[in-house]
Amino acid sequence: MKKIITDLNLKDKKVLMRVDFNVPMKEGKITDENRIVAALPTIKYALENGAKIIAFSHLGKVKTEEDKANKNLKAVAVRLSELLNKEVKFVPATRGTELEEAVANLKSGEILMFENTRFEDLDGKKESKNDADLGKYWASLGDIFINDAFGTAHRAHASNVGIAQNIGEGNSAVGFLVEKELKFLGDALDNPKRPLVAILGGAKVSDKIGVIENLLVKADKILIGGAMMFTFLKAQGKNIGTSLVEEDKLELAKSLLEKSNGKIVLPIDTVVSEEFRNDSDYSTVSIDTIPNNKMGLDIGVQSVKLFNDYISSAKTVVWNGPMGVFEMPNFAKGTIGVCESIAKLKGALTVIGGGDSAAAAISLGYADKFSHISTGGGASLEFLEGKILPGIEAISNK
Ligand code: ADP
Ligand code: MG
Repeated sequence: MKKIITDLNLKDKKVLMRVDFNVPMKEGKITDENRIVAALPTIKYALENGAKIIAFSHLGKVKTEEDKANKNLKAVAVRLSELLNKEVKFVPATRGTELEEAVANLKSGEILMFENTRFEDLDGKKESKNDADLGKYWASLGDIFINDAFGTAHRAHASNVGIAQNIGEGNSAVGFLVEKELKFLGDALDNPKRPLVAILGGAKVSDKIGVIENLLVKADKILIGGAMMFTFLKAQGKNIGTSLVEEDKLELAKSLLEKSNGKIVLPIDTVVSEEFRNDSDYSTVSIDTIPNNKMGLDIGVQSVKLFNDYISSAKTVVWNGPMGVFEMPNFAKGTIGVCESIAKLKGALTVIGGGDSAAAAISLGYADKFSHISTGGGASLEFLEGKILPGIEAISNK
């Protein structure tokens, strides 16, 4: 078990806080402030408990000197200050005298923010390659390290792993956001109430091999939709028309099906169309009669019913990857159907991990029907693969 922020005494301590302020920006303006709002509970808790907070985050990728102009965190500091109703001193640097003096002058219950950690990537990718001196330097600015950035936890960067390794044993912990992610994803996968039904979809088998293999061990059933279903169907010898397929994954799909011992459930019908367009004609066909000139863009109603039979008895549901091209309304019904089945469940733990699946559930109006929607696309995928997340691993144990 990793330490959480409430396990540490923050009073009068300089608290280095890695947050996820990687918000979408357009012409210097924040277009979605959800991530800033989400960080408030951890920040407020630390302020109320007498910490001197030094907060920092990455923002996008910084590859050229010009990137600095639109990838700086000034606007985020301004917005954070408004949301906290409190001064947030912004230091437009990632190191140096101005930062060190600002840290030295911080009083208990005050907060400062420094610049985008990836500005350090311009000089030899120091942040992203976890440069040893950089992690040591940042750690030297504080007494305690709190990691509340789940979205980068699958990366070993200086601003998470580097600091954690240098802050001293016992002096690091995760914040409330990371705690919640670990709790829900961990409960769903490591100690699930059964049956555990996994629903997998999305674009490619190749993106999800690790997830399928891990879930073959952990889940009781794996329902597969999305484009990846066609690689499995073709591996079974079915004609899939012009549907997306990964020819080089047919053998793998075949062996996964054999290994699965009936755990993998494939759709029995699909919504097909000649073109990848919402306004082209579409119809639902059995997966045994897909026309040569058509592609499957969603699971059909019979499959939604079949999947519902499994979902309705689940005590735990883990979902990664939409069932069809949900961005086009005519091919969103399978994904909506699965959302409906999950929404009807009572007393089950239901978790979404995956960038597009989360976006689908939110845009289709089901955000509040899940126990938890993970905020970390890549990080939640690696968690579902059963991988250790270095950004979490480096944090002190209880
Ligand atoms: P996640 O981000 O949840 O892990 P993926 O990135 O793997 O999901 O896949 C999401 C994408 O898969 C969506 O953009 C969706 O349109 C696409 N997709 C789903 N089903 C199909 C299909 N049958 N044909 C083509 N694309 C599909
Ligand atoms: Mg995706």
